[in-house]
Amino acid sequence: MARINENYLKLKAGYLFPEIGRRVRGFVAEHPEARIIRMGIGDVTQPLAPAVVTAMQKAVAEMGQAATFKGYDDGGVGYAFLREAIRKADFTDRGASIAADEIFVSDGAKCDTGNMQEILGLDNVVAVADPVYPVYVDTNVMAGRTGDANAVGQYANIVYMPATAENGFVPEPPKEAVDMAYLCFPNNPTGAVATKAQLTAWVDYARANKTIILFDAAYEAFITDPDIPHSIYEIDGAQEVAVEFRSFSKTAGFTGVRCGYSVVPKALKGYTRNGEAVDLHRLWNRRHCTKFNGVSYVTQVGAAAVYSDAGQAQIRETLAIYMDNARRVCEALGKLGYTVFGGVNAPYIWLKTPDNMGSWDFFDKLLNEAHVVGTPGVGFGPAGEGYFRLTAFAQPDQVDEALTRFAAL
Ligand SMILES: *Cc1c(COP(=O)(O)O)cnc(C)c1O
Repeated sequence: MARINENYLKLKAGYLFPEIGRRVRGFVAEHPEARIIRMGIGDVTQPLAPAVVTAMQKAVAEMGQAATFKGYDDGGVGYAFLREAIRKADFTDRGASIAADEIFVSDGAKCDTGNMQEILGLDNVVAVADPVYPVYVDTNVMAGRTGDANAVGQYANIVYMPATAENGFVPEPPKEAVDMAYLCFPNNPTGAVATKAQLTAWVDYARANKTIILFDAAYEAFITDPDIPHSIYEIDGAQEVAVEFRSFSKTAGFTGVRCGYSVVPKALKGYTRNGEAVDLHRLWNRRHCTKFNGVSYVTQVGAAAVYSDAGQAQIRETLAIYMDNARRVCEALGKLGYTVFGGVNAPYIWLKTPDNMGSWDFFDKLLNEAHVVGTPGVGFGPAGEGYFRLTAFAQPDQVDEALTRFAAL
């Protein structure tokens, strides 16, 4: 008799986006003439940069010739040309010393943020922010690091750190010692960024408690403020306590192409039951090479083209479209009397619902009266109740139309 992994039964049914879909479909069935504007799901809309397309076309042609054909990417950790480009642009040029062989190229940050916990002990105590990107929590539930969920969907054995207007949506390290802490800056869903001082407090805490920080920097490309760190490795000592996740998805429109990477520094240690230090780089390399066989050559060539001068100029133009959307949303909603957060160094606008309305009540009002779809903040955790997330990824004319409708609410 094949038994199942019963940890899966603890998972709350993928509630948020299916429920949004159900409500939108119901509304459209009753109002087929309504032109719905979607500012809910965090997917990009602008096409790939021409430099990326050209590079990928050339790579496809190479694959069609015996002389330049490529099979497995040896080891599956990423071609040297891409790891070198990443090392230079994303780390060395920003003053963070990361070596190319500390970079593991993958098919995206969702997989990596979900998989990294596999090399860490099952009795570790995990801390996450509330509200939170659900992948961090659900993958720890699947692994068996948690107990059951309570009525508001929070699991036993997880330390939840409320991200609130009072702390600027950047939780301080908890009072107790935790073993693993997931941080995401710029943040999905709140759009908050962490300053150098705030990240330094986290690195100091992690060094004092031998905590591993799992730092998700999927949105670093949206940072406009020159004082905000793009990488946790801009903080002294972070190499000893942090892994970092990056993605080409939001940076360069790769949500459908699939490419990202994780950084696991060689100085990073985990500990055995006897307190013996072990290099996590060695364990992640072993896991990655056992369960993954590399990103396609064509995709890696496309990712490397993001770092070319033309690629950089082109992705900056695309990012500027999104950031201009975010700016117009913040400005217009501010004028209408909404309290808005985020939207400056991140493509997410986190707004306080008017008159202390519940997140779902505001969702329904916006859908019914403005035909605009956003995401109820409570879907990311109980501290998100009374908040609402809008994304800046819609087409600019759609954003303007949505703002006109907001004004008429
Ligand atoms: C979109 C997103 C990612 C990126 O996921 P990919 O698998 O690389 O597409 C990672 N983390 C967060 C918080 C995200 O919102």
